[in-house]
Amino acid sequence: MLTDYHVHLRGDEPLASPAEHFTAANAERYREVASERGIAELGVSEHVYRFRQALTVWRHPFWQRFAHDDLDEYCGFVRAQTDLRLGIEADFVAGAEDRMANLLDDRDLDYVIGSVHFLRDEALDMDEYSVWDSGRSAEEIWRRYFQTLGESARSGLFDVLAHPDLVKVWGRAQRPPPQGDLRRYYELAIEGIAESGVAIEVSTAGLRKPVGEIYPAPAFLEMCVEAGAPVALSSDAHRPQDVGAGYEQALELLAQLGVGELCVFERRARRLEPIGASER
Ligand SMILES: [Zn+2]
Ligand SMILES: [Zn+2]
Repeated sequence: MLTDYHVHLRGDEPLASPAEHFTAANAERYREVASERGIAELGVSEHVYRFRQALTVWRHPFWQRFAHDDLDEYCGFVRAQTDLRLGIEADFVAGAEDRMANLLDDRDLDYVIGSVHFLRDEALDMDEYSVWDSGRSAEEIWRRYFQTLGESARSGLFDVLAHPDLVKVWGRAQRPPPQGDLRRYYELAIEGIAESGVAIEVSTAGLRKPVGEIYPAPAFLEMCVEAGAPVALSSDAHRPQDVGAGYEQALELLAQLGVGELCVFERRARRLEPIGASER
């Protein structure tokens, strides 16, 4: 079984409307690419901040700009008009755990992917509100990122931790990581990951970013696997042609680490299935 659960039916432009992207025909375009690439389990996980209801959780100006859609209409669309699993990509907002839990528990989702895109009010992976413009050192940003990742695991809100070393997104040339062995940072998240039992996403999205690497780094993935974390495989596609992109490389990494199973989710229950492409 191959999976792709971290998939967006539309791009990140504020004006990408649900009417245009949440259609059976658009879902079918993603399904076709998935079938060509032997991916049987396909799910969508739109960003929580695209939905009006997210403003009950957090009122960051970035969220206020994007929160236009209705979450229940999205859920209804996926269930009624597609054969895709129903997921969501939800940010970890420290201090708003109860409000996020209410939002998520009220919906009939197959899985919730948790993301750390912000450290407090500052963004890791976009130029606006950027934590990198705040005069903080790479050491501080990396330390706070992995501490927050561990907290996000412990929150119990999520089934999967998305792009687990997103802090590296800009690459060595633009925003170099701290010197030396980075495991001292990964270590900050490992206890939370081990104790929560959350799954770790292996994401090929990083191959399409300045860093040009899979998330997470092999050394971090190895630590997660040793800590007992199961793996969820995804591409974070924002367009059909990116579904399953870079999977050869991801599968090679998993084989090197002796990972032979992937997580499959249904109504927030998880099981493990042996890795393998389905027949075309
Ligand atoms: Zn994300
Ligand atoms: Zn995403």
